[in-house]
Amino acid sequence: MVKKVAIIGAGPGGLTLAHYLLRREHKYQIDIYERRSDPRDIPLNQTRTFPMSLGDRGLKTLWQIPGLEAEIKTISLETTGSILHQKNGKQRRLDRKKTFVSIDRNHLTLAILKNLNQQYDHSRLNIYFDCQCTNIDIANKTINITQNSSTEQPTELTRNYDLLIGADGARSVVREAFFQTQDFQVETDYVPSAYKSLYLPNPAEISDINLEARKVHAWRLNNGITVLLVHQIDKTMNGVILFPYQNNPIAELKTGAQVQQFFQENFPVVSKFLPQSAAEEFAQRPISRVLTVRCNRYHIEDSVLLIGDAAHAVSPSIGQGCNSTLEDVRIFNEILDKNADDLGKSLSEYSLVRVPDGHAVKELSDYSFPTDKKLFAEFIIRNSFAKFLHPIFPRKFPPPILDAVFADDISYSTILLQNQDWISKLKKNNHSLQS
Ligand SMILES: Cc1cc2nc3c(=O)[nH]c(=O)nc-3n(C[C@H](O)[C@H](O)[C@H](O)COP(=O)(O)OP(=O)(O)OC[C@H]3O[C@@H](n4cnc5c(N)ncnc54)[C@H](O)[C@@H]3O)c2cc1C
Repeated sequence: MVKKVAIIGAGPGGLTLAHYLLRREHKYQIDIYERRSDPRDIPLNQTRTFPMSLGDRGLKTLWQIPGLEAEIKTISLETTGSILHQKNGKQRRLDRKKTFVSIDRNHLTLAILKNLNQQYDHSRLNIYFDCQCTNIDIANKTINITQNSSTEQPTELTRNYDLLIGADGARSVVREAFFQTQDFQVETDYVPSAYKSLYLPNPAEISDINLEARKVHAWRLNNGITVLLVHQIDKTMNGVILFPYQNNPIAELKTGAQVQQFFQENFPVVSKFLPQSAAEEFAQRPISRVLTVRCNRYHIEDSVLLIGDAAHAVSPSIGQGCNSTLEDVRIFNEILDKNADDLGKSLSEYSLVRVPDGHAVKELSDYSFPTDKKLFAEFIIRNSFAKFLHPIFPRKFPPPILDAVFADDISYSTILLQNQDWISKLKKNNHSLQS
């Protein structure tokens, strides 16, 4: 019998999982509910999007969807590492063993969505935008949806499901429903840094600044405020500014002129290609925060599953949130293959396999990358040693953390075990700073 699947959330996780389920020999009929409007109708710079780095872990999942690799290659750039620009004009380079793909989160989502719509008609797939899931009744397998409209009063709908997927991000309403069952535990924490997106023109077009292509460019102040920028396919630069949420100067910047002055004083290179219009848009954009999530179970019996940020949202520090989300999809698909789509077996096996990795990727994201200046220098040295020694003595010296997390041949749990000394050191340092 065809199973009725309701996916909450049309982000990278929900849309990619829809692809994988629809390829499973007509076993699933899918409805996706997304609270935001259709992204095809909204200009990018009016959204809270940001560039993401995707390595083999995420790309391997995407490349298995026919046509998607070619589409993504037209809207993303291959990137080979990062450059940290220091105050004295010198650069510290962090080159990667393998290239990764730099792509805007909303461009990625749009590409997966368009591909889905091209491949499946309404008999198998329906995507409802402006539809927010507000409540779930686990015992009766129903969801409540509020359908918003710019012209009419909101409509309340109730829908039933055989399988409910919570792909609704860090503040998941599906995860909240897990409290209707026994022994569910979740920890949520805000990352100390908040962020605002930046959309800048091609530097070479309006200034004498020429930033190396195919790199993530970073500028960091002693107080931890960091600008990260990546070239886009049209040579414009997008990125984010990260800053401590508490007592931050960014909240005070209310006008374009104030924004320009702040950048001139603190990030003079970036200020050279920050035009008035971009500064004004920046001043209007809200501050965003990142919530991390750690829970002890990702399923309820044979009928509810959490994937992606809903299950294990992490700090963006080492670029693993979307990579691990896409890996979730591939692993769930493999588990369905193994159990011939028996949902009872597959959902419990998924939690068993994936919870340890969800905990590990959170730990790695919280503690791999130091903010402290001295520890950062140590991180660079360790990275260079690991790069040199791992190919010669692979058993004794693990690969550099950043290479390992972007590859897909080592699980997050193993990477955490291999780097336990470094992670413990950073954890200790962070805790001593907080106390
Ligand atoms: C600044 C920043 C930089 C990042 N950089 C990277 C990077 O370099 N590499 C990387 O791998 N990851 C990165 N990430 C993380 C990445 O964005 C997330 O891990 C990824 O988007 C998770 O996908 P998802 O589909 O699980 O959730 P989301 O992308 O959060 O999508 C969830 C969707 O569910 C919808 N939704 C929520 N609640 C409801 C509801 N009640 N009803 C209906 N719809 C709902 C939301 O509108 C949203 O569209 C970064 C994150 C941030 C904030």
